Amino acid sequence: MKRASLIAVGNELLSGLTIDTNSAFLGGQLQGLGLEVVSRYTVPDELTAIERALTLASQDADVVLLTGGLGPTDDDLSRQGMAQFLGVELKLKEHLLDTIKGRFEARGLDMPARNRVQACLPEGTEALANECGTAPGVMARRGDAYFFLMPGVPSEMKRMYRSAVEPVLRPWVGSQSIEHRRLKCFGLGESALVEKLGDRMQRGRNPLINCTVTLGVITLHIIGQGRSAAAARERVEDAESQVRALLGDWIYGTGEQTLAEVVAGELQRLGQTLTVAESCTGGLLGKEVTDVPGASTFFNRGWITYSNQAKTEELGVSPDVIDRCGAVSAEVAEAMATAGRRKSKSDYSIAITGVAGPEGGTDSKPVGLVFIAVDSAAGCQVKRCCFAGDRRSIRQRASQTALHALWQKLHFDLPQ
Ligand code: ATP
Repeated sequence: MKRASLIAVGNELLSGLTIDTNSAFLGGQLQGLGLEVVSRYTVPDELTAIERALTLASQDADVVLLTGGLGPTDDDLSRQGMAQFLGVELKLKEHLLDTIKGRFEARGLDMPARNRVQACLPEGTEALANECGTAPGVMARRGDAYFFLMPGVPSEMKRMYRSAVEPVLRPWVGSQSIEHRRLKCFGLGESALVEKLGDRMQRGRNPLINCTVTLGVITLHIIGQGRSAAAARERVEDAESQVRALLGDWIYGTGEQTLAEVVAGELQRLGQTLTVAESCTGGLLGKEVTDVPGASTFFNRGWITYSNQAKTEELGVSPDVIDRCGAVSAEVAEAMATAGRRKSKSDYSIAITGVAGPEGGTDSKPVGLVFIAVDSAAGCQVKRCCFAGDRRSIRQRASQTALHALWQKLHFDLPQ
């Protein structure tokens, strides 16, 4: 597998003022082409830093993609860094100068003198056309390796990547076909998942299996290569069935599917309805469910019963139960869920009550303690969860876990 390295140039990237979305975009694109991205560097607008990054990147990659530092100002030093790395001079290219002048003229402007530097390329390199900005990109070769310099502005960079870089890389990567499949998992931690998959997740394997995690949802990427599309697909399908056999119920979906979408699909397929009664999530669960287009076909209603009074008045939760067990308890979660289902005449109901923090935790009921109840004609199950993190992530984890609990109930309690 050919290897790639990414370099993002810019002080603003190091200070955190700008998020490096260029590398995220390029990483995905290169992986899709069948290249393994082995390193990423973020460097300031300094000549030595750029040259050093090019040197380091070239030591373990066959292709290096750099973005930023192609502007006309004194701190735009990527062209010069490349020239130094190659041990050559920058040379003015008249035809590039004409193109840049033409761009200004088209807008009724004279080209400022400082833009002249954008028409200079390291000797022996080629220009990459910039269809929506002034700075041309640069393509260089050293030995067998490729180097591409592209603008920092994300829209210009993407356009240049697609029109000038990808057409070079695709045939160079070879006649390899790539198949990329995503499996979405929920309910187990990343380390537990990695342990279950064992050496299947080792780097350098074909298919390559790796994972990304967002709010408890683990996306497993299975990327296979083959001489033909069928060969790549076969590799991925084989790995997928092994992964499915190992992870079973922890896999809830594929591709970009969210838990809410999967649950919505199941409710629609079964012709069943849903109601929610929320306390600590304050409507988040209802929002996630109604984010799914067509939610009106299965979503009946939602209550946000934040206070004890609301739980009693709206849902008829007994004040005695609240006094005896506390608002954050399995008993109250169950009472909310059963009342919600009964009152709305829905097939399913979910209730959530918990301590989202940062205040309000006690020794027996710490911040992050959440009870989730899912009720149906088959009975009510209550789950006790202890989530880590801040208020926002506790609420989001609670809502995701509630959707997952419903998904499990739908999937395993009912005849298919
Ligand atoms: P310019 O001609 O505008 O100077 P440039 O190629 O020199 O272009 P920069 O000056 O480094 O690029 O960046 C231009 C803009 O693009 C800035 O707003 C910067 O924040 C943004 N940018 C640069 N690099 C990245 C990156 N890696 N990810 C996201 N945005 C970026």
